[in-house]
Amino acid sequence: MSSEIPAVTGDSGPELAALVAGGTVDVPDFPKPGIVFKDLMPFFGDGPTFRTVIDGIVAHYGVGSFDVVAGVEARGFVMAAAIAYATGVGVVPVRKAGKLPRPAFSASYGLEYGEATLEVSEGAFVPGQRVLVVDDVLATGGTAGATMDLVERAGGVVAGFTVLMELGFLDGRERLGPRKVHALLTV
Ligand code: AMP
Repeated sequence: MSSEIPAVTGDSGPELAALVAGGTVDVPDFPKPGIVFKDLMPFFGDGPTFRTVIDGIVAHYGVGSFDVVAGVEARGFVMAAAIAYATGVGVVPVRKAGKLPRPAFSASYGLEYGEATLEVSEGAFVPGQRVLVVDDVLATGGTAGATMDLVERAGGVVAGFTVLMELGFLDGRERLGPRKVHALLTV
């Protein structure tokens, strides 16, 4: 039996891809039969790894290339806050339905395992503000597409989309073109 670690790929190179892969646990049949859930909690729980990957995201875009970070509830919040802190910009939460206290734009879409609605507060962005959208996993691209729609309806301009992991076989990236998509790990 070979002890070689299989090569992994991503838009910021094999080292960062391997850090994300090493912090991911595949959970079969969650949240429903046939879905392999990518549990990234070990990644988030490992401080040096988390910092290295967040630094890699910031390096990929460059400080000054976006004005605000939009994080998709809930794991996107964790990444968004770290990127925002590292670059000195603010965070806009993209929330699940019914959580925002003031008038909001709303977008519904299909998930790999169901239906969902996301919301962004009206006036969340200064018109023309460049927005980096972040989430943990890009699967079918429904969540990312709905988020980009919301960002634009709320007056922002999508500067790019970053995910820790892209499920390449679901072709989510194709739905988001021509916008820039950055995935640390593609499986
Ligand atoms: P999608 O809209 O199909 O691209 O799904 C992406 C969203 O659903 C992200 O917010 C992910 O957190 C979540 N998600 C979808 N599929 C998975 C999966 N296999 N493992 C973990 N999270 C997933």
